[in-house]
Amino acid sequence: LRAVWLGRAGSGLIDWCVGLVSLQVVVRIRPPCLVEEEEAGEDASRAPDFCVRKTATNSVAIHGQDFTFDAVADAASSQEDIFKLVGLPLVENCLSGFNSSIFAYGQTGSGKTYTMWGPLSALLEDSTCSERGLTPRVFEQLFSRIKEEQGKHADKELTYHCVCSFLEIYNEQITDLLDPSPKSLQIREDVRTACVYVESLTKELVFTTKDVTQLLVKGLSNRRTGATSANADSSRSHCVFTCVIKSESKNLEDGSNCTRTSRINLVDLAGSERQKLTHAFGDRLKEAGNINRSLSQLGNLINILAEISQSGKNRHVPYRDSKLTFLLQESLGGNAKLAMICAVSPSQSCKSETLSTLRFAQRAKSIKNNAVVNEQKEEDVNMLREQIRQLKDELHRMK
Ligand code: ADP
Ligand code: MG
Repeated sequence: LRAVWLGRAGSGLIDWCVGLVSLQVVVRIRPPCLVEEEEAGEDASRAPDFCVRKTATNSVAIHGQDFTFDAVADAASSQEDIFKLVGLPLVENCLSGFNSSIFAYGQTGSGKTYTMWGPLSALLEDSTCSERGLTPRVFEQLFSRIKEEQGKHADKELTYHCVCSFLEIYNEQITDLLDPSPKSLQIREDVRTACVYVESLTKELVFTTKDVTQLLVKGLSNRRTGATSANADSSRSHCVFTCVIKSESKNLEDGSNCTRTSRINLVDLAGSERQKLTHAFGDRLKEAGNINRSLSQLGNLINILAEISQSGKNRHVPYRDSKLTFLLQESLGGNAKLAMICAVSPSQSCKSETLSTLRFAQRAKSIKNNAVVNEQKEEDVNMLREQIRQLKDELHRMK
């Protein structure tokens, strides 16, 4: 039956819209904090000595090495600038039916959480707070665009359902951030659709940006944090906020239906710093090992996908080797458009971690994805059902 499905893909059941698209990689250098500014030199006669510097709209220099990405944001870039760079295209991709993801990578303290959600105070405040992060801005735009689309077509009735979930992967265990009683959840794969999902995860229907920010606040307050010597408020878990958007378009003239489902994943990864810097031991060491395992697995996948992109030759991609990559499978190599924000600190003391983040970002830059619109037309589904019925009859006769 799966062969029938794939065999029909070119004939309208799935509309192949875009060929190869590359992963968008943006590097964000956060502004120095007070201590870092002091470290960098109070001597007014020379420029402050930071380890990494933006040299053009899309490049950075670090100790004589240059790196080029899709875009580079530095201390002068606002949350709104980051939204325009990666958030706006994500919303448009999503409304066009593509699975779309943004994930933030970088060492602890580099600005991942600030970028993805913004400070908690900004989420609690009204929607005009300039510090609010990408996620609330993405949903503001999504709901405004949905309204626009609904008002645009007099001959169609457009309905949208947005369902959100928020989970954490900590020590290779998945917990539901929207469920205050923490229990470990399992990843499952739907054999019929080959879709990966988390069993018993809370799903909330959202209609407004406020609904989303309330979920964010609830989820983030359930998030685990642990003190390490690298950062007293370090975040050692991966957080994934997902919204599944289902749109149904009914043609008012002929009554035909078309449904599209797309998924937004917003991922705040655990700190990428090497564990030796954190002087971890005991449970913390095990934890650090698991965090590093899933991140190094992400790095392995990126290497493999980059190799496939460059050579054009297919090879096995070990998505299941960690919870993070199993869950992000569709966002990494499958039917998805993705953006990666690699956050770095300007501090000299972070030089080697910053270099390692930039190298990771450079490898990610060479991945190409085959993004496909998830669209089903009613007549195609009916036609397929009929074909399946005929094939079953044929099989039955052959027995
Ligand atoms: P991470 O999630 O990578 O550990 P955070 O997002 O918690 O790092 O950022 C560390 C600190 O730096 C926080 O106090 C945060 O408010 C601040 N910060 C990070 N990026 C920015 C930025 N672009 N502008 C202002 N402050 C920032
Ligand atoms: Mg964080």
